[in-house]
Amino acid sequence: MRQEGLIKGLQIEEDSKKNLQYHLKLGDSLFSLNELLGQELTFHFSGEIRCSFCEKIIKKTYGNGSCYPCFITLPQNDLCILKPESCHFHKGSCRDSVWGEDNCFKAHSIYLSYTSNLKVGITREFRVKKRWLEQGAIQAIKLARVQNRLQAGLVEVALKKFVSDTTNWRQLFQEQEIPEDFEQKSVQLKEYIKDTFRFAHLEEEKTEKFNYPILQYPKIITPYNLEKTPRFQDKLIGLKGSYLLFEGGVFNIKKFTGFYLEMKKY
Ligand SMILES: [Zn+2]
Repeated sequence: MRQEGLIKGLQIEEDSKKNLQYHLKLGDSLFSLNELLGQELTFHFSGEIRCSFCEKIIKKTYGNGSCYPCFITLPQNDLCILKPESCHFHKGSCRDSVWGEDNCFKAHSIYLSYTSNLKVGITREFRVKKRWLEQGAIQAIKLARVQNRLQAGLVEVALKKFVSDTTNWRQLFQEQEIPEDFEQKSVQLKEYIKDTFRFAHLEEEKTEKFNYPILQYPKIITPYNLEKTPRFQDKLIGLKGSYLLFEGGVFNIKKFTGFYLEMKKY
């Protein structure tokens, strides 16, 4: 087996038996990573990097695999995407108001998940499950729904008083216990949202749990970095969040979006 192309991301889906299926998008092809579990693989970065937005050849990527011009001009790379409460659409300064209307003025979910810890987050309502899987959540529940990104940001900022909004990525790679107070916490946060934000609609859905395909956890969790080590060979032992777990390290696919990769199986 040999595959090559620009890294375009992961597709993570739950199959009918609730098993998570990972596919890697490399150039125009999409292939199963679950089938490669337990196999010795070679990753080789050719040195070519392309902006994931305009496809120009570049030397390094900024946010989301983008070149510098795309990073400073595209709406999806604006600071308000990381800090939704700082949405500036109403000031007329949105980088692209058509994109803003299509993406930020749509229903958003506010959720509670368990990644390395309890965590709150927001995202477009239709992609909430994708988001949980990309982050490696082992358990998650929707708390509330609002009409736009700014409202979601305001709720999230308020919830940060009670729960973190970040993940300690190193802890994703060890055996985890589901916290006993998860349900209780979600009820408390919903109560708080109900009492504080009139514009939010509470969700009634149940908690979801996710089992990642992991044969064993890595003993070493040093991240593989294609810029420093353009070629490495290691045994694939697990898939979690946006990471490929190997015996000797972990590889964050997201970080290398736009890198030209050659992948071989022995
Ligand atoms: Zn670009």
